[in-house]
Amino acid sequence: TPQEHMILEVEGLSVSFDGFRAVDDLNFYVAPNELRVVIGPNGAGKTTLLDLICGKTRATAGSIRFRDRELTRMREHEIVRLGVGRKFQNPSIYENLSVAENLEISYPRSHGVFASLFFKRDAKLRERIDEVAEAIFLGDRLDAEAGALSHGQKQWLEIGMLLMQEPELMMLDEPVAGMSPREREQTAELLNRITRNRAVIVIEHDMEFVKNIAHRVTVLHQGRLLSEGSIESVQRDERVIEVYLGH
Ligand code: ADP
Repeated sequence: TPQEHMILEVEGLSVSFDGFRAVDDLNFYVAPNELRVVIGPNGAGKTTLLDLICGKTRATAGSIRFRDRELTRMREHEIVRLGVGRKFQNPSIYENLSVAENLEISYPRSHGVFASLFFKRDAKLRERIDEVAEAIFLGDRLDAEAGALSHGQKQWLEIGMLLMQEPELMMLDEPVAGMSPREREQTAELLNRITRNRAVIVIEHDMEFVKNIAHRVTVLHQGRLLSEGSIESVQRDERVIEVYLGH
């Protein structure tokens, strides 16, 4: 039976590109306060799975339920409004704006990207900006121009921009790519903290980092579920060993 109390229930999900099945009859369930890592070789369908959940790609078959709402026919912005946030590999921050302004324009109350800059920040918004900036290790850089931040800090800022919307499901594509060891540690800490209030799905290749963050791991291979469970159980799984070492 399908697990109860799952925030995300993906069932029989498939998508074909010119007859090629990038995601093939996939079942995938995520619990409310879970940090799930999706791994698998290149071309396994990891990015496509996240694209399907956030509405960037349309499913050929199957269903995606988020808090009992069917997402497969919704548009991207509707899915965002329901509480699904997605961070892509390249940060889409506004380099010419300050850290605080980047966070402010991501606040859902804002009507249009720059409109909010002309109004005085109310106390609640101010508090939220401070809170998020603190969480992403930029509490003392509120007035810094985003373009002047390090690569890692830009990644955190984009995570912060998503946090301003308080999503209930957050999806991140290789969040520590290009980060220093210290930044990786901080990112693990950040992701663990973020997961207290929401479900998080992370695509990641770095197994050391996966060990630090994952509650459970899903292994995809050729668009299908190859293995799922604790990192230990997945690493012991013969099918996983074969796919990674076998050819
Ligand atoms: P992963 O993220 O696991 O590396 P992807 O989800 O990016 O894998 O890709 C899975 C497969 O689907 C790949 O073979 C890729 O070439 C193909 N694919 C992904 N998106 C498209 C698309 N928009 N059009 C055609 N083929 C695609």
